[in-house]
Amino acid sequence: MSIKLRIQLIILATIVIASFILLAISTLSINNLSEKNIEIYKADIIKNKKEMLYDNVTLAEEIIYSYYSELGEYGDHYLKKRVDILFNIIEEQFNKYKNKISKDEMKKLIINIVTSAKYDGNGYFWINDFNYKMIVNPVNKELNGKFLEDNQIAPYVKLAVDKLKNSSKDIVFDGYTFYSKDTKRYLYKRFVVKVFKPFNWIIGTEINPSKIEEKLKKEALKKISELRYGKNGYFWINDTTPKMIMHPFKLELNGQNLCKIKDPNGVYLFVEMVKVVSKMGEGIVEYHWPKPGADKPVMKISYVKIFKPWDWIIGAGVYTDDIESQVIKMKELSSKVVKSTIVKIVIISLIVAVLLLTIISFMVKYNIIHKIENEKKKIYSMAITDSLTGLYNRHYLNEISTPLFIKCQRYNYPISVAYLDIDHFKKVNDTYGHDKGDLVLQQFADIIKGLIRESDLIFRLGGEEFFIIMPYIDKESAYDIVKRIHQSVKKQGCIYLEKGKICYTFSAGVSDTIESDYSLDSLIKTADKKLYQAKTKGRDKIIF
Ligand code: GH3
Ligand code: MG
Ligand code: MG
Repeated sequence: MSIKLRIQLIILATIVIASFILLAISTLSINNLSEKNIEIYKADIIKNKKEMLYDNVTLAEEIIYSYYSELGEYGDHYLKKRVDILFNIIEEQFNKYKNKISKDEMKKLIINIVTSAKYDGNGYFWINDFNYKMIVNPVNKELNGKFLEDNQIAPYVKLAVDKLKNSSKDIVFDGYTFYSKDTKRYLYKRFVVKVFKPFNWIIGTEINPSKIEEKLKKEALKKISELRYGKNGYFWINDTTPKMIMHPFKLELNGQNLCKIKDPNGVYLFVEMVKVVSKMGEGIVEYHWPKPGADKPVMKISYVKIFKPWDWIIGAGVYTDDIESQVIKMKELSSKVVKSTIVKIVIISLIVAVLLLTIISFMVKYNIIHKIENEKKKIYSMAITDSLTGLYNRHYLNEISTPLFIKCQRYNYPISVAYLDIDHFKKVNDTYGHDKGDLVLQQFADIIKGLIRESDLIFRLGGEEFFIIMPYIDKESAYDIVKRIHQSVKKQGCIYLEKGKICYTFSAGVSDTIESDYSLDSLIKTADKKLYQAKTKGRDKIIF
C-alpha cells in the first residue's frame, strides 16, 4: 500500500470518526433540546391552566361572599333589604292616593299591604306605634290592639320603641332570645323596625338568622352548581370534614363523607384538599378523576380555596389528559424534525468529509508526498552514484544494464563498452597521498563526462577503474570516443601542485555486442581481457 493511500485512509478514518462523534453529539443535543422545549411547553400550559383555575375559583368565592354578605351582622342586611322593599311599595301607594282618599282609608290600604306582604315562606311584617300598642300583627292576631310595654311573647315591641326613642334614626336593628316550646330550645331572633312617618307607625319584621343563613347557603350552592367555565369546567364544594356539600354531576356524593375516596394512585384527594387549604388557605391538588359523564379517571389538576365563614372548600379542576396527548403529538413531530435534521447533518458531514479529504489529500500530495518522493529520489540517486566522482556506481550498472540490453537486443541495436583503468595509480597515491589521488580520479571522471554522448553511461566500478556503456554503436565508433578521451587526458591529464604536477595515463579495453553477447558479464569479461592486454603491452593504450 502506498504512503499516499495510507495517509488518505488515516484521514478518511479520522473524518469518519469525527463525523460520527459530531453526529452523536448533535443527535443527543437536538434530542435534549426538543425534550426541554416540550417540558417548557407542558409547564407553560399547566401554568396557564392553574392561573385560569385560580381566576375561576376566586370568582366563585366572590359570588359566595356576595350571598354571605347579605347576611351581614346577624342578618341585618337581609332584614333591611326586606323592609326597604316593603317601604318602597307603601310609600309609592301613599303618594299615589294621599290626596284622593281619606286618612282612615289610607291607613286601611297600608295595613292591607303590610299584612299581606310575605317573604321566604313565613316572613311577615307587623305595625305598632310609639305607645307600645300593636296595631296589626298578621300572625299573632291575639296581640292586635294590645299595649305590649311589658310582654314576653312580643318583647320586640318594647325593645324597638325604646331604641327608636333613644336614637335619631328612623330604622333600628335589635335581637332577643326566647324559649321555643316547639323545639324546646332557646332561639335567637333578630328584627328590624322602620318608622312610617305619615302615621308615625313602626313597621317591623324579624327573622331567625340561622334559617336565613341556611337559605343564603342554598342559594349560593345553586348558583355555584350552575356556574361553568371553559368547555365543561364546573365547581364543587366540600367542607373540611371532608364532606361533599355540592357536586353538580356526582349527585350521589352530596352529603357523603369523602375521607376514604382515593384515586387509582392512592391519593386521598379530598383529604389532600383539606391539608392544602388548612396550610395556605388555597392551592393546587393533582389527582385522577373521571370527566363528567365518564367512568375512567384521567389526570386532573384542581385549585381549592377555603371560604372560612361557612367552612366551604371551593374546588375547580381541569383535566390534563389533553396536554399529554398534545405532548405525544409534539414528541412525534419533534422526532420527525430530529430525524430530518440528523439526515441533513449526515449529508453535510459527508460533503464536508469529501471536501476535507480532497483538500487534505491535495495538501498531503504537495507537502508530504512530494517531499517524500524527492527524498526518495535523493536517496536513490545517492545509492546509484559514486560520491567522489558523481558517476554511476556498480550497483546502478547492474540495475540499468538488464532493461537496456533487452531493449537493444529486441531492436538489434549494438552496444559497446569500454573498460578504463588509470596506469600505476598506486604510485600516485604512494607518492602524493590519497587526497591527490582523489583529485586525479575526479579530473579523469570530468574529462570522460565532457566527451561522451548523452545516450552513453559512465560508471566507476571501484578504485581507479571506469566503465562506459555506449548504446547503438559498434566498437569501432566506441574506440573513436575512447580515443578522444585518451587524447584529452594526454593534453589535460595533469593535476598541478604547488611544486610540480601529477600527470597520468590510462589503459582501456573496448568491446561490443557484435563480438560478444547481449550480456553485461560477457561484455565486461571481453573488455577486461583487452584492458589486460593493454596493460601487458606497456600501458597507456586502447585495445579494441
Ligand atoms: P596498473 O597500472 O597495473 O593498473 O597499476 P595500479 O597501481 O594502477 O594498480 P593497483 O591495482 O596495483 O593499484 C590501484 C590503487 O588504487 C590501489 C589503491 O590504493 C588505489 N585506490 C583505490 N581506490 C582509491 C580511491 O578511492 N582513492 C585513491 N586515492 N586511491 C584509490
Ligand atoms: Mg586497477
Ligand atoms: Mg591501475
